[in-house]
Amino acid sequence: MIYLDNAATTKPCEQAVSAALRCVEFFGNPSSPHGLGLSAERLIEQARADLAQVIKAKPDEIFFTSGGTEANNMLMGVARTSRKLHFITTVSEHPSVAAAFSSLSQEHRVDILDVDNQGAIDLEKLAALIGPETALVSVIHSNNETGALADIYEIGRIIKSKNPNTLFHLDAVASFCKHRIDVNKAKIDLLTASAHKIHGFKGVGLLYVRTGVKLSPRTIGGSQQKAIRPGTENISGILAFAAAAIAMGEAESHHDRLWAIKERFMDLTKTIPDCYLNGPEGRTGSPYIVNLSFVGVPSEVLLNALSAEEIYISAGSACSSKGKKPPSLSYLGIDEKRGRSAVRFSFNRMTTEEEADICIKRLKELIPELRGQIYQGRVY
Ligand code: PMP
Repeated sequence: MIYLDNAATTKPCEQAVSAALRCVEFFGNPSSPHGLGLSAERLIEQARADLAQVIKAKPDEIFFTSGGTEANNMLMGVARTSRKLHFITTVSEHPSVAAAFSSLSQEHRVDILDVDNQGAIDLEKLAALIGPETALVSVIHSNNETGALADIYEIGRIIKSKNPNTLFHLDAVASFCKHRIDVNKAKIDLLTASAHKIHGFKGVGLLYVRTGVKLSPRTIGGSQQKAIRPGTENISGILAFAAAAIAMGEAESHHDRLWAIKERFMDLTKTIPDCYLNGPEGRTGSPYIVNLSFVGVPSEVLLNALSAEEIYISAGSACSSKGKKPPSLSYLGIDEKRGRSAVRFSFNRMTTEEEADICIKRLKELIPELRGQIYQGRVY
């Protein structure tokens, strides 16, 4: 099997699995005042400190959630007044941010920034939009479809220079432990991460909330986690999350190797006719994700052909593939023909050049074959 769908989810690492098993021994309720409860609480607090360290936050600024979707939804808690506020986000957000903003737009003013054909926000436009009423700006760090990277330090600087009270939220689900993030230097007030994208388990994530930021809870009925996110903590998932984060090593330490792999895929635009790169060119984006269109071969046809050989990739993002059609990347100015053939290859720190080469070799053989079959009406 060659797994190149790591932006959808990653395989739990050994460190995460053995950390999770500690909950068998330390099974106490972390809120129980007896010894077993206190031991469980201590383990959770250590995990909170380890995860805070990744983004240079303080441990008590980390709130565990059921994943990235819940953490992004918690943004709605910023609108805790009846006063009409102003919110800003971008067209290239994950559906869990986009839906939260759509809900906010019922009561508040929302602006959605366009991105250019590389996935970058126009920073001058962002600056021009921020005013005294702007409560929050939410930006995706590494785009989960194309790997486009936001310049978080510049964005933070712009937001705070225009209005020091405007909160800056970063959806760091695809970048946590992969790209360096210092919440103080980037002036980030809220940040979302998810365990299953870094070899932890599904169903656990975190929201970083800078000290002093007021957020009304979306779940009520308990005093855990300062009642911001109540409910008995998912100990196994949380311990695995911290162990997985430590096992990721220094952020960016795998970049050189991954760039070499990503560049092999990008080179297909030179060797396969009608093959296009979607998203950032050169070494400007994330080395973990590359998005290519093989025009004439619909994404799902290529995904199925590779899947039959146990090579796993993605057609659009997994989160939006059920129910709705995969997004066409039209927000990058990509036409429908190219959008319908867009596929994503996404790597992890263990992805090897050999795996990449096997996939690339098969692509070079399969694309002309599939184009021929489609032309003859044998496929699709
Ligand atoms: N934001 C981004 C950028 C993502 O890629 C994802 C997961 N696909 C999420 C948020 C949601 O995270 P989770 O799957 O943990 O709910």
